[in-house]
Amino acid sequence: MLLDISTLYLVATMMAAMLGGMLLFFGAQESIPALKWWGTAYLLGAASVALWTLAGDALGRLPLLAVNAVGFVACGMVWNASRVFHGRKPNLPGLVLGAMAWVAAGVTLAPEAAELRMTIGAGIVAVYAALTASELWTERRRTLQRRWPAIVVPVLHGLVLMLPILLGDFLRPQDAAFDGSIWLKVFSVELVLYAVGTVFVIFMLVSERAVTVHKTAASMDPLTGMFNRRGFSEASARVIEREAHAGRPVTVLIFDIDHFKSINDRFGHPAGDEILKLFSAIVINTLRITDLSGRIGGEEFAALLPCSLEEGVLAAERVRETFAASGIAVDEGPVDTTVSIGVAGGPAGTELEVLLASADTALYQAKRGGRNRVEAAEELPLSLEKWRRKTAGLSSAQRGGVPNPA
Ligand code: GH3
Ligand code: MG
Ligand code: MG
Repeated sequence: MLLDISTLYLVATMMAAMLGGMLLFFGAQESIPALKWWGTAYLLGAASVALWTLAGDALGRLPLLAVNAVGFVACGMVWNASRVFHGRKPNLPGLVLGAMAWVAAGVTLAPEAAELRMTIGAGIVAVYAALTASELWTERRRTLQRRWPAIVVPVLHGLVLMLPILLGDFLRPQDAAFDGSIWLKVFSVELVLYAVGTVFVIFMLVSERAVTVHKTAASMDPLTGMFNRRGFSEASARVIEREAHAGRPVTVLIFDIDHFKSINDRFGHPAGDEILKLFSAIVINTLRITDLSGRIGGEEFAALLPCSLEEGVLAAERVRETFAASGIAVDEGPVDTTVSIGVAGGPAGTELEVLLASADTALYQAKRGGRNRVEAAEELPLSLEKWRRKTAGLSSAQRGGVPNPA
């Protein structure tokens, strides 16, 4: 098959330029800085390759070096785009280091050392490809399966670039000119595939990110920044499953701030909101980093601890004491803040609903017992159905004069 190298490079260049324009456009429209980095990288890369292909022979040695240097900066920008995408700062020295190495090599090496220069050039591009892949690799944890193209594309790109160097080093070619022309064709075809493949990966990452943002918003409580009931349930289900695998028990805490309605009535709703935020901070800071917590209702919070009931009760006591001693004051004076806590523990694999129902019964006991206290559930309902029937009978008989704990 006859493939004209210049034509191939031009096609690759035009595609890259179009894709770059598209990325810049979307980046500006959706205000995604990483897309602007990627788009600019594509445009710069395309400009550099186009100039090199069309006017390479006419340019002098130094201008040609500069044109190539722009191409290496573009490679550095692709890598920096993935840093920016993950919320890291761009690495500016790293961005220009490749181009500087290239210029230094070009200035110091003899003009005959074309092969060595090509090796250095491909090496620089491969290093940037490896950096890009590793940047995406470190972020892969959450979505390992869906992330594989993000890693495979730059790695393949780097490998294709390094192949002639490796082959050349191992099987010193008899006919360098032949090898060179074949590799130039492979490069140009690979360039097209890489440009298209990378844009595919970029859009995959961006859409994955958008889905995550929406999912996160749907499971967060905006006031406290904690999980809301839905987020808490989903995260708890995962922790319970994990602990069940390990055969470890789990414990659930339900917190209900005492006389919160009266706090609102006396000091106003905004003051009430501040107290909710403070309480959530106390819960987060008092519990361990491995414990889950969330705001499951107005002034009700819950936590899931991967530990036994006894340890759970101790943790609950710590939260209760800290909140009672928090010494909150508003303009009108100090606010008495106390919380009642129900605790329920279960063997490995107990359902969240069962634990919550049981902790709720314990919370009700804590309220009945005078508030500002921790109560542990004596027994775990064997089945949620049975428990519902039992408490339906209880609540009509017992709950009469006591404020509703839920
Ligand atoms: P108890 O000790 O029995 O728990 O009494 P309580 O007043 O805390 O319980 P109750 O359930 O009667 O009242 C809860 C109050 O919480 C009523 C509601 O106005 C208030 N509340 C719910 N959500 C919010 C919120 O987001 N901000 C504020 N400031 N108040 C809220
Ligand atoms: Mg309350
Ligand atoms: Mg309540």
